Amino acid sequence: MTEQPTRRLLLVHAHPDDESINNGATMARYAAEGAQVTLVTCTLGERGEVIPPGLAHLGGAALGQHRLGELRAAMSALGVDDVRLLGGPGRFADSGMMGLADNDDPGCFWQADVDEAAALLLDVIREVRPQVLVTYDPDGGYGHPDHIQAHRVATRAAALAAEAGCPIARTYWNRLPRPVAAAAFARLDQDLPGLPFPEAATVDDLPGVVDDERIAVEITADGTPYAAAKAAAMRAHATQIEVAEPYFALSNHLAQPLFTTEYYELVGAPAPAARATDLFAGIEEAS
Ligand SMILES: [Zn+2]
Repeated sequence: MTEQPTRRLLLVHAHPDDESINNGATMARYAAEGAQVTLVTCTLGERGEVIPPGLAHLGGAALGQHRLGELRAAMSALGVDDVRLLGGPGRFADSGMMGLADNDDPGCFWQADVDEAAALLLDVIREVRPQVLVTYDPDGGYGHPDHIQAHRVATRAAALAAEAGCPIARTYWNRLPRPVAAAAFARLDQDLPGLPFPEAATVDDLPGVVDDERIAVEITADGTPYAAAKAAAMRAHATQIEVAEPYFALSNHLAQPLFTTEYYELVGAPAPAARATDLFAGIEEAS
């Protein structure tokens, strides 16, 4: 049996592309530093809207398979080799946007029993024994049912792991400080005429925006190879993301900033007076 890396990071996401948008720079950095980086994605995102006209014929299972390929390409760009679909590819279907009839599909992730799904994640936690878990806040960042469910399943699995004797030392939620978002959108509004996007999103469109004082950790990758890896990983999700650095758009074609500094709120503890620059800061070297 090969020896496990000392530092082990688990990220739980809803769809292929969420990991690159939220945590691409962080994943690239820790992978390059030799940490174990494990991504668990809960659905194949087969109800996502497809951007490139040439791929518009893809839908349902075919889109899911295509997005699995995009996810593998993105992980390759980030240098991450441990990516898993919760319960195996296709175990949980994409639930679609909140309020759609898709939400009632008995096979969709939104309809999944949280304890059953958490038990599948617990198997991964027992194997990997991560010290750090990264996922969304209780609102899933912006209210998408699969993101909310990913939060619930990750949180439940972390509780089960603690009961099972393999506690996860730190859980973080993906965040973006409001002043950072506001400054980036002010730049975007100036740059918009030169971009391939007709309009800009607003701060209110972004997930996880909170006040500065809730940020515990800041992973800065501006100008580093990790920033380039993040942009490359986002490009790999071509059905979902159009990149024009330092901006990108989703299928709504609204320009938004591509953040190469990533921010985290520590769950269950007040943020420290000074932000840490390492998700593992203060965690004892684990077995
Ligand atoms: Zn998503």
